[in-house]
Amino acid sequence: MRSPVNREPPAPATGWQHELSNAFRTLGELLKFLEMDTPDDEHAELSDSPFPFKVTRSYADRMRKQDPLDPLFLQVFPDKLEKQDDPQYVSDPVGDMASLVAPGLIHKYEGRVLLVTTGACAIHCRYCFRREFSYGDFHLSRQWEARAIDYVRSDTDIKEVILSGGDPLVLSDHRLHELIDQFAQIPHLRRIRIHSRLPVVLPSRITDTFLETLSQCHVPVILVIHANHANEISADVRLALTALSDAGATLLNQAVLLRRVNDSVSALCDLSEALFDSGVMPYYLHLLDKVSGSRHFDIPKELALDLYDQLRRQLPGYLVPRLVRENEGQPYKSLLGTVSN
Ligand SMILES: *Cc1c(COP(=O)(O)O)cnc(C)c1O
Ligand code: SF4
Repeated sequence: MRSPVNREPPAPATGWQHELSNAFRTLGELLKFLEMDTPDDEHAELSDSPFPFKVTRSYADRMRKQDPLDPLFLQVFPDKLEKQDDPQYVSDPVGDMASLVAPGLIHKYEGRVLLVTTGACAIHCRYCFRREFSYGDFHLSRQWEARAIDYVRSDTDIKEVILSGGDPLVLSDHRLHELIDQFAQIPHLRRIRIHSRLPVVLPSRITDTFLETLSQCHVPVILVIHANHANEISADVRLALTALSDAGATLLNQAVLLRRVNDSVSALCDLSEALFDSGVMPYYLHLLDKVSGSRHFDIPKELALDLYDQLRRQLPGYLVPRLVRENEGQPYKSLLGTVSN
C-alpha cells in the first residue's frame, strides 16, 4: 500500500546509487579484493559496529594490492588500536552538539550555519570526528528542512549555509536541487557551501543533473572536498572535479593530518600539487579531532608544526593549506604555525 504522506517520487537506481549499494561492507571483502589475509575475529567485531565498515569499490580500486600500509587502505582499516581507551579522546571532541539551533542545524560561527542533511556517507573513515554520533541513520525530514530554512530566513546576519553530513551528496539529485534552490531564494544569503567527500570516493556521483543544478544556481556555490592523499585523485576524480569547476563551483579541499597516511612533507606537497592540477585549492589541513578510537592516527603537535614549516618552504603560499585545530568554544578554527617571531 502506498503511504499518503510519501510524496517523493521513487528515486531510480542510477549508476552511482547502484555503486553505492555495492560498496564493500566488511573488512573481509576488502582484504580479499586486495589479496590480503582474512581478518581475525577481533577485526571482524570492530568492522561490525557501532561505526561499521564501508568503502566504495571506486576508492578501493586506488589502493595498492597486498600493501597493508597503503595510505588509502589505512584510512578505512578498523585497527585493533581503536579499542584503546584514552580519556583525552572523547565522543564529541568539537562540541557541536552545544550549538544545535534546530534539528540538524549547527550555528557555531558568525554568519555561517551548518546543516546536517543526512548521517550517511559513502565511506567510513576511521578517524572521523563524527564516528561516535548516533546519527548514522539521520535523514533531514521535510519538517526539519523547513525549520532550518525558516531559521536562515529570519536571521539576516547569516551569509552562508553549509550543507554537510554525513555527506550531502548522498542525497538524490532531486532533493539536492530543491534544497539548494530554496536556500538560493533567501535574499541575504550570499553563498552556498557543500562539504562532500563524494567527488573523491565516488566520482560517478557528479551527474549531469547535479552539474546542471550548480550551473543554474544564481548564488555562488563552494564545494569543499576532502582528500588526504594524492593517490585519491585518480583520472576519473580529476574529470569529475573539472566538470564541477566548469559548472561554476569554487573548489577547495580540506584534509586531515594523519599518522602513516600523509604525515610527510612529500605526501603533503604531492597532495597540494595534485589538487591544483584538478582545479582545487587547498583550504584546511586539520589536526585530528580527538575522537574516541582515533588515537593511532594522531601525531604530536610539535611534529605537525615541523612538517608545516617544511611545507611552507617548499610550496608557493597559495598551495599551503591553513593548519587548523578545532577547539571547543572558540569563535573560529584555531590557526597553527603562523607565529614566526
Ligand atoms: C568548520 C565549521 C564551519 C565553517 O568554518 P569555516 O572556517 O568558515 O570553514 C561552520 N560551522 C561549523 C559547525 C564548523 O564546524
Ligand atoms: S563525514 Fe567525512 S570523514 Fe566522516 S566518515 Fe563521512 S566522509 Fe569520512
